[in-house]
Amino acid sequence: MKKDKILVIGACGQIGVELTLALRKMYGDANVIASDLREEHDLLKGTGPYVSLDVMNKEMLHVLVIRHNITQIYLLAAILSATGEKNPLLAWHINMASLLNVLDIAKEEGIDKVYWPSSIAVFGPNSPKEDTPQHTIIEPTTIYGISKFAGERWCEYYSHRYGVDVRSLRYPGLISYKSAPGGGTTDYAIEIFHEALEEKKYTCFLSEGTYLPMMYMPDAIRATIELMEADKDKVKIRSSYNLGGMSFSPKEIAAEIKKHIPEFTISYEPDYRQQIADGWPQSMDDNLARQDWGWKPEFNLENMTVDMLKNLKK
Ligand code: NAD
Repeated sequence: MKKDKILVIGACGQIGVELTLALRKMYGDANVIASDLREEHDLLKGTGPYVSLDVMNKEMLHVLVIRHNITQIYLLAAILSATGEKNPLLAWHINMASLLNVLDIAKEEGIDKVYWPSSIAVFGPNSPKEDTPQHTIIEPTTIYGISKFAGERWCEYYSHRYGVDVRSLRYPGLISYKSAPGGGTTDYAIEIFHEALEEKKYTCFLSEGTYLPMMYMPDAIRATIELMEADKDKVKIRSSYNLGGMSFSPKEIAAEIKKHIPEFTISYEPDYRQQIADGWPQSMDDNLARQDWGWKPEFNLENMTVDMLKNLKK
């Protein structure tokens, strides 16, 4: 039997750090190679192998895959929504070329499994806002959403045409305390905790009634690993699965934090990110993920808030 050898690309980002640590627990430290453009993240130091990699350099990636007998690739490197709007052509270039490099090497080398995340950003103003279905109008208006939607089509294409076992989730906004967020429109839901603890006040860049789908990082990591561990024939959607956790507005999360920090106050100064958020769903219908491979979230606004505050106070 072939031994699993995993390459995580973009391992020093908000998801990458926690996913790498979780995979190392499951597969053994030496069998999970972390890679990124950046310097090794402090939380990864001493936990397993690390290589410096620019995923845009296909040759280097190819050599790495062959040299280490890689059997699974998790591609997390990307330019996120808010950052992407500042430099659309760069975001398109990086988000597409990174995925195509990985899919093509996976095809050539017969990689067992590839993971690549999509996002709720694939949906646009014409998609239904509440309980947004898996299959519906998809007309993204941000370059990030456009690149994710195109990426989903490429994933399905490589799966159907070449048999590449690529799996994907449309993550909602992810909330975590271990590693910093990377320039997304939902980053406010992390900043608010830091500011509540340090300053007792927060100025939000979205308006008080902006509902967005969100998920606590432990749920996102578990969803990712459960999807990747599912039997191949259970993974019926080869573009990307809708994934739901919780849904709340800045006003609601502020009220939840106030239960624990009574003096906390919030004010609102919406900026360019408001327009991005206005085009996105408010909540997701993730029934197909539940049916096909048994997805069930554990965290809601209440228990996530308790856990975030407890861990940030440490
Ligand atoms: P992040 O920005 O925190 O991390 C991305 C990492 O990729 C960074 O460490 C960066 O240095 C690295 N990277 C960038 N360019 C690279 C390159 N050319 N070569 C190698 N590494 C490179 O992002 P994240 O929040 O961890 O997101 C990971 C994935 O999940 C992305 O595809 C993102 O679109 C998707 N996603 C994230 C969220 C969220 O809320 N965080 C929501 C939906 C989807």
